Amino acid sequence: MNPDQRIARLESTPEDSNIYRLTIRLPLPLWSAPFTIKVSAMSTTTAPVQELLPEVSEFLNKPLHKSFINGDWVEAGGGQTFDVLDPGKGQKVATVTSLQKADVDRAVDHAVAAFEGSGWAKMPVNERSAMLHRLADAVEARKAIFSQIESIDCGKVYSQAEGDVQNFVDTFRYFADLAQTINYRSVIAVKGHEAWVSRHPWGACGFIIPWNFPFLLAGWGLAPALAAGNTCVLKPAEDTPLSALYLCHVVQELDLLPAGVLSVVTGMGETAGAAVAGNPKFRRMSFTGSPEVGRLVAEVCGRNLVPVKCELGGKGAAVVFDDVDIKQTAAKLVGAITFHTGQVCCDATRWLIHSNIYDKFVSECADQMQAVNIGYQMDSATQMGPVVSNKQRERVLGYLEKGVAEGAELVLKGGAAEVPGCGGFFVKPALLAGPLSNVAAREEIFGPVAYLAPFGSEEEGIRLANDTEYGLANSVWSEDLSRCARVAESFESGNGWINAHNVIVHGVPYAGVGKSGMGGGVVSPETLYDYLRPISVVRPL
Ligand code: NAD
Repeated sequence: MNPDQRIARLESTPEDSNIYRLTIRLPLPLWSAPFTIKVSAMSTTTAPVQELLPEVSEFLNKPLHKSFINGDWVEAGGGQTFDVLDPGKGQKVATVTSLQKADVDRAVDHAVAAFEGSGWAKMPVNERSAMLHRLADAVEARKAIFSQIESIDCGKVYSQAEGDVQNFVDTFRYFADLAQTINYRSVIAVKGHEAWVSRHPWGACGFIIPWNFPFLLAGWGLAPALAAGNTCVLKPAEDTPLSALYLCHVVQELDLLPAGVLSVVTGMGETAGAAVAGNPKFRRMSFTGSPEVGRLVAEVCGRNLVPVKCELGGKGAAVVFDDVDIKQTAAKLVGAITFHTGQVCCDATRWLIHSNIYDKFVSECADQMQAVNIGYQMDSATQMGPVVSNKQRERVLGYLEKGVAEGAELVLKGGAAEVPGCGGFFVKPALLAGPLSNVAAREEIFGPVAYLAPFGSEEEGIRLANDTEYGLANSVWSEDLSRCARVAESFESGNGWINAHNVIVHGVPYAGVGKSGMGGGVVSPETLYDYLRPISVVRPL
């Protein structure tokens, strides 16, 4: 059942957060549309929590969430498990299997066998694409279930979780369609020879993903690899394995993929993650996460000569010129840094503001940030939920302390936040200002914290934006679009955005350079080609 089919729903009204709307839907055909009455609020501090769908309760109530390997549910050989918390409540929501190396190795063997024997790799591309469309349709039909699971698992505001689930669906549809349009055999005109390049799936592919966009990133990794005919082993982050496991339930229930084509191996990074990274039977490896772990994964893949792509962290800049609408631009940047509580790799975390508008802009941002409503992720009035874990909260608070100790000014204090009735990991948005040599301006914080600095000329704005080891995404803000294009092309990053931030579109390559990534990117035609092994065939005439 999705939320639109529920009998009753209580939510705050946009007009007045103290007035709640009770929507009652009677079963069809008695009543064809919901009707709404307004009731007074009992609490002025939190909105009512969205009620859990029966499917979500049933899923979360499982005593043990096992890994999904070769079409079956599998426990760790030694029975190891770990707990998953609701970051908003700070309470356990699930116990999950913690696979060890031998368990992961078996999953990889099954993926290799499925590549060779399941028929997936050799299936005509239109049939394979039709199956991936079925998978996308099945997820979309269960969008509310996936969104609730994702929201509870990673602390993501419910509406943002819905966006991620839709993105997963769109990614599968994009690559399922694209796979039917590309050339699997390209003829090359050369003197005295017949020559062509023929493209084939590689084999079993490994995916290690982080906790900030668990379902969306699973889609970005799996969709192109599956569309190209590979088999996949996905290792979700230990904080957020639940949406990937629910996907496996849907795949199994509807028989959407042959056994072994998709396996999800749950466990700790140092054990299950390291076992995925170090398995030489993979033909391609994809890692999304921190630069520190990315280095480890790339090292072991290098030793095994397994091609690897790394999508890593960021320390993006927004370069704001003095001709912008201050209120609107501030709103967009504040919206971006508070979106998913700042746990977004491509966020603008260094705000470089033209000195002519610096003071006005900074005070506008501080006002807007203070007004952001912090709350439980499933409350309809919440704009910013918790960070994913206590460890992440300590990291954010630690960077505020270190930044101030190195001389940064606290324009907006930030700090831990209390949400009544929730024992989770909440932080307030913060603004720091000062020299860009400060640790809080150099290192990735991964929370709702921006660092402000003024600039004078276009050249200085570009120089400051590029003065970082990272190179994921920067943005430029001005009414002068020629200047915007010039500045955007001068960024030493994989992505340059104009008058917007966090703009990722299917069809446009998204990748990082420097400490932000290597070996390819995501969501574009190039990504599909990454999962196809080219062989050049030549015959002298
Ligand atoms: P992380 O590097 O700690 O963990 C990522 C994954 O690696 C997890 O699944 C973890 O279990 C696994 N892992 C941990 N140790 C491992 C090991 N020794 N061997 C193999 N796998 C191991 O990252 P995180 O804290 O989960 O995520 C936050 C980071 O991800 C940030 O730096 C963020 O910028 C980055 N990120 C980048 C992108 C992108 O597209 N560039 C997208 C999202 C997140």
